[in-house]
Amino acid sequence: MSAAGSRTQKPQAAPSAADLLAWYDRQRRSLPWRAEPGETADPYRVWLSEVMLQQTTVAAVRPYFERFLTRFPDVSALARAGEDEVMSAWAGLGYYSRARNLHACARLVAEAGAFPDTAEGLRRLPGIGAYTSGAIAAIAFGRQEAAVDGNVERVMTRVAAIETPLPNSRPEIRVLTQSLVPADRPGDFAQAVMDLGATICTPRKPACALCPWMPPCRARALGLQETFPRKVRKEKGTLRRGSAFVAFRAGDGAILLRTRPPGGLLGAMAEPPTSEWEIDYDPARALLDAPLDARWKRQPGLVRHGFTHFPLELTVFTARLALATPAPAGMRFVPPDALADEPLPGLMLKVIAHARDPKPEPPKRGRPGRESLPAPTPLFEEVEERPEPPAFRPVPKPAPRPATAPVADGEEAEPERPPAKAPRRRAASKPRAKR
Ligand code: SF4
Repeated sequence: MSAAGSRTQKPQAAPSAADLLAWYDRQRRSLPWRAEPGETADPYRVWLSEVMLQQTTVAAVRPYFERFLTRFPDVSALARAGEDEVMSAWAGLGYYSRARNLHACARLVAEAGAFPDTAEGLRRLPGIGAYTSGAIAAIAFGRQEAAVDGNVERVMTRVAAIETPLPNSRPEIRVLTQSLVPADRPGDFAQAVMDLGATICTPRKPACALCPWMPPCRARALGLQETFPRKVRKEKGTLRRGSAFVAFRAGDGAILLRTRPPGGLLGAMAEPPTSEWEIDYDPARALLDAPLDARWKRQPGLVRHGFTHFPLELTVFTARLALATPAPAGMRFVPPDALADEPLPGLMLKVIAHARDPKPEPPKRGRPGRESLPAPTPLFEEVEERPEPPAFRPVPKPAPRPATAPVADGEEAEPERPPAKAPRRRAASKPRAKR
């Protein structure tokens, strides 16, 4: 439902595609996947960039896009590549199911000989949903289709002051956006709304004075632009915990890695062996999950990571192994200079960085919370690190758990999200909208 009436100023008419396109012609961003004026858009570049940009920023995508194009210059080259190669090129971008879908999609398109040129046809391909199909159809094939992502949602809810919170407002936003797409230059219109959302109609402090849609913008007329889109507060998910085991081989510093099972969270990605990730994980039993017998040293601090459905905390254990130590079944030693070729997701890069340079937890104020890890037990008491330890214990220990996917109900939220800061306490203040 749209807000009725205005408090400060009456908005004029409806937003016009012509006004937006005139602004776009002056202010468009130059992006490596974007055709310059007079050029024809390349469906492969458009598709690749749109898949990469799902949940990821332009700044993060740029170097990946350029590396991908060098390695896989067209859809046939991508289709011919091995899955390891694709996952390795993608490593660090997060949401790894996108990479698997990208590869599967490339194979289908290469087999068909070309991308479908309609939104409907594109939607049948793996990893292509309503937004991506609309964007490719409009930008690469000039179809009169709407492409509604988070930026576009923000612009449209502000322009029309849509009071219904997301995600329930999505059908209304889609209808509004589709009604504004011109028959002429639909691809430029799609990119213009994206640019407007990214550069002018930003989440905080939108630069309304520079906006081509300021005259018709209802939220601006109400003075409430920063309060849109309305949102329903999200549940954060329950914290899970686990352990990660980083074994360094003496001599060459190689790290013990394994490949995760193909399905589920971080499927087919590389990792130092980890335990299962559980809500009630007991760190006192961590060594039962170690991949081999060694003098495991529990490092101070934690590696924190946010997935879509839950936050994760990993305790990191390190060990130094003799050069002749064989890798356990299904695992491999990877020398430091070959790590870049491994499909290591952001979480596992953080684990390795922490193993090399552990950062202790900052001291907590007040009483420890219920979620604090218990103090190290005697099982973990740190041992002196020795340069060349043939470090196996003399007695056998229970077999490690198999390398099953720890969880399968989420995906990575941010490729390299830093640990969340504790919220500062503030005195209650009135909502901005009431000022
Ligand atoms: S006038 Fe302001 S709030 Fe409205 S669309 Fe433009 S930048 Fe966004």
